[in-house]
Amino acid sequence: MALTGIEIFKKLPKTNCGECGVPTCLAFAMKLAAGQAELSSCPYVSEKAKMELEEASAPPIRSVALGIGPQAFKTGGETVLFRHEKRFVNPTGIAVLLTDQMSDGEVDARLQRLNELKYERVGLQLQADLVALKGESGDPSRFEALVKRVQGRLDGKGMILMSEDPKVMEAGAKAGAAQKPLLYAATKANAEAMIGLAKGINAPLAVKGNSLDELVELSNKLTAAGVKDLVLDSGARTVRKAYEDQVILRRAALLKKYRPLGFPTITFPCEMTGDPMKEAVLASLFVAKYGGIVVLSDLQGHSLFPLLLERMNLFTDPQRPMATSQGIYEIGGPNENSPVLVTANFSLTYFIVSGEIEGSRVPSWLLVKDTEGLSVMTAWAAGKFGADVIGPFVKKSGIAEKVKHRKLIIPGYSAVISGELEEELPDWQIQIGPREAGHIPAYLKMWKPE
Ligand code: SF4
Repeated sequence: MALTGIEIFKKLPKTNCGECGVPTCLAFAMKLAAGQAELSSCPYVSEKAKMELEEASAPPIRSVALGIGPQAFKTGGETVLFRHEKRFVNPTGIAVLLTDQMSDGEVDARLQRLNELKYERVGLQLQADLVALKGESGDPSRFEALVKRVQGRLDGKGMILMSEDPKVMEAGAKAGAAQKPLLYAATKANAEAMIGLAKGINAPLAVKGNSLDELVELSNKLTAAGVKDLVLDSGARTVRKAYEDQVILRRAALLKKYRPLGFPTITFPCEMTGDPMKEAVLASLFVAKYGGIVVLSDLQGHSLFPLLLERMNLFTDPQRPMATSQGIYEIGGPNENSPVLVTANFSLTYFIVSGEIEGSRVPSWLLVKDTEGLSVMTAWAAGKFGADVIGPFVKKSGIAEKVKHRKLIIPGYSAVISGELEEELPDWQIQIGPREAGHIPAYLKMWKPE
């Protein structure tokens, strides 16, 4: 049963030293209770309190890391059934399958697609995260060779090693131990050997059951043996059963706080269909509900891009607008005679406006004011895009040293501030730009510095 903030507070040192990043122990306790802080942030908790609190403050779905260092891929850690309740935490990992039956050329081509298919959207880099290496041949040396061929060419991505044969897995695990891969999978038949391998290289272990009951049995066995980082596979390979299992697993972990099922999941659209487009549709289903990892048979831009977009939209925080950093942005190599525009830092606003400026082929300076992620109209209504804040921002921005003219283009929707802004910026002439971003290119083509 989760502890309340007050119950957690009673176990903290109560010195209010602030080293955890919040000013008081009470505030830290409240954050801990809400799942917004890690107990390890407080260096002064007693060992006894640590043991009591760690159990109580652990998220209902354990967070599991593949890989090492800050680039490690994390899955799990979820606390809600629906995004609007709070937020989803760790985006579903997208993995591509490589097997030791594939030719070197095929392996290299898939690796190349894994590393090259990247997309930038609202300032974020979107790409697949993992490679799943499958020992299909049953030959330990072939599997080891595949692991060796791939590691070092992953560009920071995580690795899943797949074989139910402990001998094959041992060869791969030894070769890939430094990557802290996910070992897939412990089953009823091989659990003892897989426990030894996972503990031997301190790696997370996937568990595959033939039913949910068997999954519970195996999960209990593995955690009792000291393997704490598990990833669950219910074994279902039909769409309906796999979908049902995902929902049951999430609900059992969150609503019943059922620890044996409190782990992230792995799903295999690649084993459910031979049709690449259907596979992409199934992957989108498991991104939404509630796959921790989805394994695809291959990556192609036309199916990967929509999946990445879906994932981005689901895993952003609905309570925090996406924002661009405040500052001066150079678009198209502007000079001292180029136009100067100002806008808000809502990411979508920034990317639409900057895209239109770029499309106009008129090199320009774009001043982005921090409006806490609000769009122009909302920010103006909230007092974050008025003359009293834009004026000081323009003065401090340093734009006056970059251009000879003194003309500032404001968004058409904020025309109402132009008079006050001229008072704030007496050296500048305030020009009212278009209301719609789509009209920016025509406006800029007509613009003159004199
Ligand atoms: Fe309290 Fe620990 Fe935070 Fe210091 S670091 S304020 S003792 S919770």
